[in-house]
Amino acid sequence: MSVIDDSARIFVGGQFRPATASTPVLEAATGTLLGMGAAAGPDEVDAAVAAAGAALAGWSATPPAERAAVLNRLADELLARSVSTNELCTRENGMPIRLSRGANGRFPAALLQYYAGLITGTPAEEIRPAAIGHTIVRREPVGVVGAIVPWNYPQALAAFKLAPALAAGCTVVLKASPETALDALVFAEAAQAAGLPAGVLNVIAGGPDTGARLVSHPGVDKVSFTGSTAVGRRIAEACGRLLRPVTLELGGKSAAVVLEDADLDTTINGLKSAAFVNNGQTCHLNSRILVPRSRYDDMVDALAALASGLNVGDPLEKSTDVGPLVSARQRDRVLGYIEAGKADGAKIVAGGGIPADQPDGWFVSPTVFIDVDNASRLAQEEIFGPVLAVIPYETEQQAVALANDSEYGLGGTVWSADAERATDIARAIRSGTVGVNDYQLDMAAPFGGVKASGLGRELGPEGLAAYQSIKSIYRVGPASGEESLSVL
Ligand code: NAD
Repeated sequence: MSVIDDSARIFVGGQFRPATASTPVLEAATGTLLGMGAAAGPDEVDAAVAAAGAALAGWSATPPAERAAVLNRLADELLARSVSTNELCTRENGMPIRLSRGANGRFPAALLQYYAGLITGTPAEEIRPAAIGHTIVRREPVGVVGAIVPWNYPQALAAFKLAPALAAGCTVVLKASPETALDALVFAEAAQAAGLPAGVLNVIAGGPDTGARLVSHPGVDKVSFTGSTAVGRRIAEACGRLLRPVTLELGGKSAAVVLEDADLDTTINGLKSAAFVNNGQTCHLNSRILVPRSRYDDMVDALAALASGLNVGDPLEKSTDVGPLVSARQRDRVLGYIEAGKADGAKIVAGGGIPADQPDGWFVSPTVFIDVDNASRLAQEEIFGPVLAVIPYETEQQAVALANDSEYGLGGTVWSADAERATDIARAIRSGTVGVNDYQLDMAAPFGGVKASGLGRELGPEGLAAYQSIKSIYRVGPASGEESLSVL
């Protein structure tokens, strides 16, 4: 794995530089040292923003077809490194390797290819008839982007931001989490190899102070953040004061609504992924399972069997379903919720602690609480681990009310033999995304949350628009034929 190195680095202005301060990156399954990640200080943030600012004029003026060609080369370079990248990510954060192959290996390249196609196929200017003549409505790159990502899907979530921002003609400072500081440098290596002009992409890592400096930096034109709701609120406040555009992809506590006619096997097979994906460290996790009283006993038995039967262990093994959590802190946080649930009298039918055969690393057994009150902390707060709360309901109306009785609104699913009926329930759920009988992100469709789950959308054409600023140029008289075809 080429980026594992004992000297921490940042990538600024097209060059790798030794970092002035560093933090250890530990392997989630063993707690052993993987390498040193940068803990970028103020001067390094300033240098990265300055490099992005210096590169902006050239990159934004580069024709979309040329930008797209560079993005496609970047995708090729990422694919060439994908095996080592997905292994590295799995070591850093414990993601099961089967998932990592797609999420950290193939997905970032696919997203770059998607936005390369979108930017070449979408005119930058559109002519609209107006009272005095016509208006040119023009999409311009928003400028220098500060992109801050969490550790749970480090490559995919970085690509959510880099791909549309670079396609739009923006330049970027990517700030990775300390836990996944090493894999972020793969983007830098690939960018160098692909011939991305110096300064168009800059990669740093660090904690809250590094992120906060980037958010408020005068040289940043737009902030794109994925992470917790608590930090998202702080960033929104800073951007509000600065009147700086911001996209926020935040936490969730999504509900799986199982309808009376749901097929048991389909539902349980689907929930294996929807409710436990990435060891529960997934923002759109279906961590509340709403079950009709008439099906309650069967579903509880099946969910307990599912959780108890999951293969917990080495995340690098293909057969592993659930790996370790990212850090000792995250494991302790999840165990704290489990203990609090027990202390409140909630009933456990699977898991409930550290697996006896996994004393090293930061493992937590897949855990299922039943008869959970939707008002309790177990049902209202994002645990971010393999912990489910099963909640009974009497009527579909009540199920929708329970699903919506949450601070969050990011994901969710509806399970039924009747897809139309399930879709009607999906329409009634207040959430940015809902799956019917499965939950798979679609890179061509907008992804994001309502309420405390965030502001704005990523992916799809909406994700590109998030990096564009719109200008109207009012003109007297009719548009010429040439203008009406104008493409930047
Ligand atoms: P976090 O909010 O602690 O950190 C996220 C990033 O923000 C990290 O890079 C961190 O270093 C940085 N940061 C921390 N404090 C900051 C500050 N004051 N200013 C600027 N940057 C700061 O979140 P986490 O624990 O790394 O990730 C888990 C959270 O991310 C969960 O809540 C999860 O739901 C959320 N998440 C959301 C989505 C989504 O698309 N909605 C996707 C994945 C994860």
